[in-house]
Amino acid sequence: VPDNGVWYLKCSKPECTDLFACVHTVDAMMTSPAEDLLIPSGITSLPMAGEFPDPAAPNDQLTSEKLGSFKVQVSDAINAYGTRKVSIVTPTDPAFLMTMNPEDAIVSIYTALKHFINSQVFYVGGDRFGSCKSPDHRMSTQGLLNWLTGLVGAYPMLEFWDKVGKLTLNACVVCMWNRHKPVVVPGPDDSGLGSL
Ligand SMILES: [Zn+2]
Ligand SMILES: [Zn+2]
Repeated sequence: VPDNGVWYLKCSKPECTDLFACVHTVDAMMTSPAEDLLIPSGITSLPMAGEFPDPAAPNDQLTSEKLGSFKVQVSDAINAYGTRKVSIVTPTDPAFLMTMNPEDAIVSIYTALKHFINSQVFYVGGDRFGSCKSPDHRMSTQGLLNWLTGLVGAYPMLEFWDKVGKLTLNACVVCMWNRHKPVVVPGPDDSGLGSL
């Protein structure tokens, strides 16, 4: 489904109506073979999901599921075979990620992202896990971020997500989660946006 020119996989479950990312779409991205889920040329938002420590969780359940996303720009075919270039969308120039052949499933983009983030994305210029320049960053966000800073060693995925957030949104991992929280929205009758 295109939204403002950005493609994303829309979940059919009623509880996910207004979400750009949910566990179901993440599952689809991870498991669908190439022929079932063709990524269109242009910009596509890809969902992420992961289990992270949750300060609000009771002791017997120490993690909760968090959602995020990143955008990729996919070129038209660059050869007769149908190979396309996949870049990750950032606030500045897109960063080249991989080339994708018609038989490659979307999960290969996640694999390439993991490699790219872990090998080529570094904190620079005083940035670190625990800092954030996003205008949406609040005191409560920083409180949670400070708490998580002590857990980065035990949960390397925290640093991975933080770097994805910094690279793509100039925002920390908690800001990324906050952007993907299910929100209560007015019904279609109230907004006049029912067809979206
Ligand atoms: Zn869903
Ligand atoms: Zn932040």
